[in-house]
Amino acid sequence: MLNIKKIRRDFPILKRKIYGHPLVYFDNAATTQKPQKVIDTINKFYIYSNSNIHRGAHYMSDEATISYEKVRASVKSFINSKHLEEIIFTKGTTDSINLVASSFGRLIISEGDEIIITIMEHHSNIVPWQMICEEKKAKLLTIPINDKGGMLFDEFEKLLSIKTKFIAITHVSNTLGTINPIKKIINKAHLFNVPVLIDGAQAVAHTKIDVQDLDCDFYVFSAHKMYASTGVGILYGKEKWLNEMPPYQGGGSMIKSVNINKSIYSELPHKFEAGTPNIAGIMSIDPAILYMEDVGLHEIEDYEHQLLEYATQEIMKIKGVSIIGIMDDKTSILSFIVDGKHPSDIGIILDKLGVAVRTGHHCTEPLMRCLNISGTVRASFAFYNTFQEVDIFINAVKLAIKMLN
Ligand code: PLP
Repeated sequence: MLNIKKIRRDFPILKRKIYGHPLVYFDNAATTQKPQKVIDTINKFYIYSNSNIHRGAHYMSDEATISYEKVRASVKSFINSKHLEEIIFTKGTTDSINLVASSFGRLIISEGDEIIITIMEHHSNIVPWQMICEEKKAKLLTIPINDKGGMLFDEFEKLLSIKTKFIAITHVSNTLGTINPIKKIINKAHLFNVPVLIDGAQAVAHTKIDVQDLDCDFYVFSAHKMYASTGVGILYGKEKWLNEMPPYQGGGSMIKSVNINKSIYSELPHKFEAGTPNIAGIMSIDPAILYMEDVGLHEIEDYEHQLLEYATQEIMKIKGVSIIGIMDDKTSILSFIVDGKHPSDIGIILDKLGVAVRTGHHCTEPLMRCLNISGTVRASFAFYNTFQEVDIFINAVKLAIKMLN
């Protein structure tokens, strides 16, 4: 059992009122709220030890470098990577995918090759691959889904061929909540010697990740969706690939030496970390991981699942509501549409009642087209949410439908 009262006290923003109503924050798939310890870490950095890292110029710079590199070790253990050098700090999931597409994509993709994604990908895991396909005259293939929002594994098997050079798949769909069978996909892909990138943006705060057990080639995620700062994220990559890959960006910190005609690049991980990073943001990842581990990843998963089941059961009682994404294997994302009502109209009324949800295509336009809808209302839960909040949300949806009738 989680001590939700205590947990909620740790997230100051949850005390807010919106239009006079207590905030019900159900937009956790967009970004999660931050516990006090994360906020304190960011503040403390600027109040006590603001310095640039990896310069070794003075005491505070060394102190900042040690704290920054400690985060790399925390992330390594959080996702169980084999080597510290396999953890690259980026600006987020989008940046991590662009790094892999630009660097690895350019290295391995040639004319006539094929890259496989699913139809449920976030735009971040579509557009970078489109760009590399356009540049290299390669083809982007998509795995379709069934009526429940589950990926069709046999269709994936049909798409795999000697032309397949890369696979990029979301672990969890940000629109449907579907958890994809990534281990099975990775195993199958490796039989064809095809490397696989997993977009873990919607998974990492909800389930335990073990990159060695998954045997994925790349795993990417954003810190802001796991209770830490915006603007920072992680690229995990197998050392053998990262060593082969050329740098993504050039500049300070990623070089050993620079001659006007040629530069020698740094070793991993610095080869991929050009320029001054968001130091405080990266430092905020450490307390966020500690917080989640303190609560317990299994306990989080369990509790969020109960919230999802309760919300699903209650929303299904409302006439005219259809849930989009009804696979058994789901994280705490509840997407729905209401007969004859526009998702954004519902969202506006919910907002006025203090309930924060997201409406629209959720950056998954190809999925929306495939489902033949323009958008959904999406409620997404975190472990600080409560069953009482689900009740408030359900009543708000009922009221919104009544008002729109
Ligand atoms: N992939 C998925 C599945 C997402 O849900 C998101 C954001 O919502 C992203 C990628 C992009 O994340 P970011 O905007 O943090 O780079």
